[in-house]
Amino acid sequence: MRWSKTNAFICFFCLKKMADIIKEIMKFIPADKISSAEYEAADIVLYTKDKDFFLNSESTIKELVNEFKKRIELRPDPDITLDQEKTKKIISELATDANITDFIFDSQRSRVIIHAEKPGLVIGKQGAILREIKEKTSWVPIIFRTPPIRSKLIEGIRNVLYENSDYRRKFLNKVGHRIYDGWQRGKKHEWVRISFLGAARQVGRSCLLLQTPESRVMLDCGIDIASIQQAEQFPFLDAPEFKLEDLDAIIITHSHLDHCYLVPYLYKFGYKGPVYCTAPTRDVMALLQLDTIKIAMNEGRDPHYSVEDIKEMIKHTICLDWEEVTDITPDVRLTLYNSGHILGSSMVHLHVGNGLHNILYTSDMKFSRTNIYEAAATSFPRLETMIIESTYGGSDDLSPPRKEADEQFKEKLANVIKNKGKMLMPVLGSGRAQQLMMLISELVRKKEIAPINVYLEGMLWDITAIHTAYPEYLNINVRKQIFHKDENPFLNEIFKRVGSAEERRLVIEEEGTCVILATSGMLVGGPSVEYLKQLGDNARNSLVFTCYQGEGSLGRRILNGDKELTFKNGAQSEVVPLKIEVYKMSLSDHSDREELMNFIASCDPKPRRVIIQHGESSKVLDLASSIHKQFKIETNAPRNLEAIRLR
Ligand code: ZN
Repeated sequence: MRWSKTNAFICFFCLKKMADIIKEIMKFIPADKISSAEYEAADIVLYTKDKDFFLNSESTIKELVNEFKKRIELRPDPDITLDQEKTKKIISELATDANITDFIFDSQRSRVIIHAEKPGLVIGKQGAILREIKEKTSWVPIIFRTPPIRSKLIEGIRNVLYENSDYRRKFLNKVGHRIYDGWQRGKKHEWVRISFLGAARQVGRSCLLLQTPESRVMLDCGIDIASIQQAEQFPFLDAPEFKLEDLDAIIITHSHLDHCYLVPYLYKFGYKGPVYCTAPTRDVMALLQLDTIKIAMNEGRDPHYSVEDIKEMIKHTICLDWEEVTDITPDVRLTLYNSGHILGSSMVHLHVGNGLHNILYTSDMKFSRTNIYEAAATSFPRLETMIIESTYGGSDDLSPPRKEADEQFKEKLANVIKNKGKMLMPVLGSGRAQQLMMLISELVRKKEIAPINVYLEGMLWDITAIHTAYPEYLNINVRKQIFHKDENPFLNEIFKRVGSAEERRLVIEEEGTCVILATSGMLVGGPSVEYLKQLGDNARNSLVFTCYQGEGSLGRRILNGDKELTFKNGAQSEVVPLKIEVYKMSLSDHSDREELMNFIASCDPKPRRVIIQHGESSKVLDLASSIHKQFKIETNAPRNLEAIRLR
């Protein structure tokens, strides 16, 4: 029962009625049928102990949804659900050929989550089997596709959610109260204000704060990985307008650490509210955050937060699909749209007040189809202010056509194979790594290069597994391929997992040629630096940069011509002369200048104002003036700590 895009903007419900929406709904249902009614964030869930009422009230619920313009769901009361073992047996018998791999019982919410290799066979023709499961077990079945690559880490994340089923039910109810109860207060003045706590005239530490008389919403909360100055790594969380205890919601656009690293840190200091993002963003974000703890410990540093803080974040995360509309506070309505950047990456559309103002925060975006993701969305219900990135927004930031870039890469790779060298590719974990896997497996499949071992550090393997778990977030070609075991590009036997320091040593010492994909993408700690220490002094090897290299990072220094790598080995300093061939791949998961301009031109409707951020100062200013000239609209290029009143 999804609240569709089409009826999303009909009206904000009349204020008085909204104040007690559950009471109003109950007027339409016989009182003795409902055992409890509560919020699940912006959704309303009714529980019944009457089995017949549960099975035969579809039309009543549909009418309520139409009347109230809210998602409303009827579930059996936990008291009437069938014993779990018996339920498993019945479902297994009803869906014998579905290859069910797992059952998880979300008992507080009467939901059974069924993981199956062939989900269609649990659903049945027009949902026939689902209906039978409901009839025979009084559980609400939820079906997930078992990914072709399994990952213990993803399963761990799921377990955190279901082990805390009781807490989760209470938490979602509390979020709902915050959304609906606020209406009673009513405010005379309406205004919208946005503060830039990071990523203004810089790439890194993305963090924006949206304020209205009713709401405090944070958009992204990342770190500047490349910054050498520790004090400048964090966004300005000490800005006078930001108080953690007043924060209503956090929205995370994607799982790169410069957008999501600090979320567990906010939980550590007492935040208890929701985080909104897509499901793949939640999974990859948790993985990368866990990895930073490991790296910090290996390097003898204190991590900024603990595994427990990451679990708190997972417990409080509310996942949304793209284009699913939901209220997040009394006067802010959120919709996520595909941003084309990495798996599950989203642009944030915010509808503020009763039609008062509409904002699109693009975050990192790619406005062309890549070999793995679709291009960013361009159609929105309404739009007044756009906040756009400008990582490659300078007038000279023009990337060559994809074919040309692919061709160039093929030549480099063929050269490495010929010289029996090793190609080291530092990657960010999510996005480029999987694009490169697609590219290399395609070259091998078409016999354009000889088969070559491609080593993936353990975490990249897990992130690839997450890609196969969420095919709906990939472009249609890849989606089709991964459903066929023989064609699944990620299952190609050229890919090998590297799980330990010992295995890493074997890869380095192995005779012959190979490709190594390793984090971090900017050579700031992590396995990529470990490899470089060993491979850097050999001219047969090559180092291929695939992502943005932040100012101050080792990657940027090498690109600028540094020929030495100095690192600490115990108390001693060691120096490796860099003879490795250095090459920057001119293919990006960000829009280049032309794509950014095309994106604005393609947006429907067009924004009235564009705010430019997430770029080095010169690029931000350059893009701002070009947008102003071409589209004759107001542009802003705020600095960190500046705020702009939008209405
Ligand atoms: Zn990014």
